[in-house]
Amino acid sequence: MRAVECPCGEYLDGSNDTQLFESARRHADQEHEGKYTDADLRILISTAAYDAGREATG
Ligand SMILES: [Zn+2]
Repeated sequence: MRAVECPCGEYLDGSNDTQLFESARRHADQEHEGKYTDADLRILISTAAYDAGREATG
């Protein structure tokens, strides 16, 4: 699992960087319409994404 926090603080995740990008794209379109380009999101993921390998329980 890969995860990244949007600059607004929203937690986003995906099973890999491609899925994470899709999640970020969807979030950006809904919450930050017109603010982030695809390139912006790829940069965010490449610089700020991290492995979220442990499943949260409870
Ligand atoms: Zn956001």
